[in-house]
Amino acid sequence: MRVTVVGAGVIGMTSALAVKTNFPQFEVHVISDKFSPDTTADGSAGLWSPYLLGNTPCDKILQWGGITHRWLEKFWKAGLAPEIGLSLIPVYRVTSDPNGFPNVSIWTETVYGARKLSSSELEKLNAECTTSYKHGWMFLTYAVEPVRLLPWLTRQFLEAGGKLRNRKIHTLNELIDDDGCDLIINCTGLGARELAGDNTVKCIRGQVARVRAPWVMHAYLADDDDGNYIIPNTDRVVLGGTHQENDFDRTPRKEDCEFIYTGCHRILPSLKNAEVTKEWVGLRPGRHQVRIEAEVCKSPKGREVTVIHNYGHGGSGVTLCWGSAMNVVNIVENLMNLKSNL
Ligand SMILES: Cc1cc2nc3c(=O)[nH]c(=O)nc-3n(C[C@H](O)[C@H](O)[C@H](O)COP(=O)(O)OP(=O)(O)OC[C@H]3O[C@@H](n4cnc5c(N)ncnc54)[C@H](O)[C@@H]3O)c2cc1C
Repeated sequence: MRVTVVGAGVIGMTSALAVKTNFPQFEVHVISDKFSPDTTADGSAGLWSPYLLGNTPCDKILQWGGITHRWLEKFWKAGLAPEIGLSLIPVYRVTSDPNGFPNVSIWTETVYGARKLSSSELEKLNAECTTSYKHGWMFLTYAVEPVRLLPWLTRQFLEAGGKLRNRKIHTLNELIDDDGCDLIINCTGLGARELAGDNTVKCIRGQVARVRAPWVMHAYLADDDDGNYIIPNTDRVVLGGTHQENDFDRTPRKEDCEFIYTGCHRILPSLKNAEVTKEWVGLRPGRHQVRIEAEVCKSPKGREVTVIHNYGHGGSGVTLCWGSAMNVVNIVENLMNLKSNL
């Protein structure tokens, strides 16, 4: 059985590793026009935190996110943290919406020790940050730096016997007819607009900055539309951020820098002294909901191949990666059972 995974982002590499380790007898190839450090997750902080997921059903987010959280927990306990850039950090998540957070159980059920901030804690926070947040939570969760996780995933995949190929795919038929694969796993993120002809995939531009601020060891997320965030990684702190729809500009913009620095300095004034080491833009693959499903595709030459789509993870590709990959494995298992029952 020859499996081709298209895409080498966090979704492609976790899918490829999960399939190769669960079906070692399969020949698994990853074909991609970009690899780490040039994928969408590479500039992100990799915080476990569901965000910008459209109307993806809550039970799916809980399932995929929960599996990923437990996967990270296993690595943290096994001492793999330095290798994959994993840390367990306290997070403040606040909003100025008087109605609070929608579907709060999606994350509070998964993270550790989630508790509501009391009104006196909120008052103190608002006084310190000159903000007016109405609700807030505090909890512990993981951040895993994709710039370290992705090379690790790639090494695991290669050691398991997987193969990497650098190439752009223009149509799925190209793979079905010329490449001779038996199963395709489509993890092309924003590229699925063209490759799967899916116009519901939309670009959500995100600009962030990285600073040197080793004294910052907790994350701060303001859920408002014009909210900022501060997320520490192992040796840098990520300051965010923007979420501009249908904006494909990959160049950091001055006005976005101003928004990021003004907002984050207001929250933590000590950041004014932090050296900026990088400004970066990534294009999130947004969709009305994450798509993980199988579809049978027939080429003009009449060859039929199943394509398992795994894309549209918006602002949560890291948060949902391993759970999504295990969903792909379940679909492959079902296909294999179906085949053996024929
Ligand atoms: C600023 C920012 C901050 C973020 N912070 C977080 C966070 O803290 N936590 C979190 O969970 N998520 C975060 N995200 C979201 C996360 O980065 C994305 O959801 C995730 O990277 C999507 O992964 P992907 O593999 O689907 O897409 P991509 O990383 O875009 O990968 C797609 C892959 O497919 C390849 N490809 C596409 N089309 C073709 C083709 N036709 N032929 C060959 N190859 C093709 C590309 O080269 C690439 O390798 C953030 C995103 C941004 C921009």
